[in-house]
Amino acid sequence: MTCKGICIRHKAQKPVGSGRYVSGQKRCQICEIFIKWDGLWCPCCGYRLRTKPRNLKYKAKLRARKVNDVEPILTVPIS
Ligand SMILES: [Zn+2]
Ligand SMILES: [Zn+2]
Repeated sequence: MTCKGICIRHKAQKPVGSGRYVSGQKRCQICEIFIKWDGLWCPCCGYRLRTKPRNLKYKAKLRARKVNDVEPILTVPIS
């Protein structure tokens, strides 16, 4: 799983007045880029894209970026 440079073609511009995830942009942790992409997986490296900020301190996390990224376990209500 490495960046092949394809993600650059899908690079998302920073939205004005709203958050990136709110605007439908997704983040690839491998390529370290926000892209406009409909799929769940990065078209470039094939890694799972992040569609939501992990928590409210997301911006703070961007500054201290060496923390190991672990996906939170989401519980889906059964209807
Ligand atoms: Zn890439
Ligand atoms: Zn990627």
